[in-house]
Amino acid sequence: MIDKEKIERAVRLFLEGIGENPDREGLKETPTRIARMWEEFESMRSFDMKLFEEFGEYNEMVLVKDIRFYSFCEHHLLPFFGYVHIAYIPNGVICGLSKLIRAVRALSLRLQVQERLTEEIADFLEKELNPKGVGVVISAEHLCMSIRGAMSPGHLTVTSALRGIFLKDIKTREEFLKLISG
Ligand SMILES: [Zn+2]
Repeated sequence: MIDKEKIERAVRLFLEGIGENPDREGLKETPTRIARMWEEFESMRSFDMKLFEEFGEYNEMVLVKDIRFYSFCEHHLLPFFGYVHIAYIPNGVICGLSKLIRAVRALSLRLQVQERLTEEIADFLEKELNPKGVGVVISAEHLCMSIRGAMSPGHLTVTSALRGIFLKDIKTREEFLKLISG
């Protein structure tokens, strides 16, 4: 649960901590803005995952490439962002594109690490769709790496999570990786 009052107090303290005056014109609404923003993220977390029954034997891969996402690195509270690529082999049910986008948003708009986000998307789809297999690849730029430390702007971190047939069958895995790199 979001405690807006706590966020506001913390942001105010943070501003003081970095030597700012939290009461100056540009900053005086900032604690409230940040509290409202996190409340908005929280509200996107639950949604109804409507599925479509697919009649007949559709055994081909369903692939959705380049789903834009934004998340926050839990080590620095800075954004990391990029693309999620999702593929699955259905087992009687498929879901609409908008549901995949909402699932990605629900799992990413919180404090995360990229590896866990990748696993959580794969686990979520496995649970909801019960497919024959799932593959998730995320490529992302981390602001905490781009603006400090290694200072490598534009550098991408790539993570993947494979389940079911994507793990067991080399051909399926290769097809997936070929389709997302093309
Ligand atoms: Zn970080």
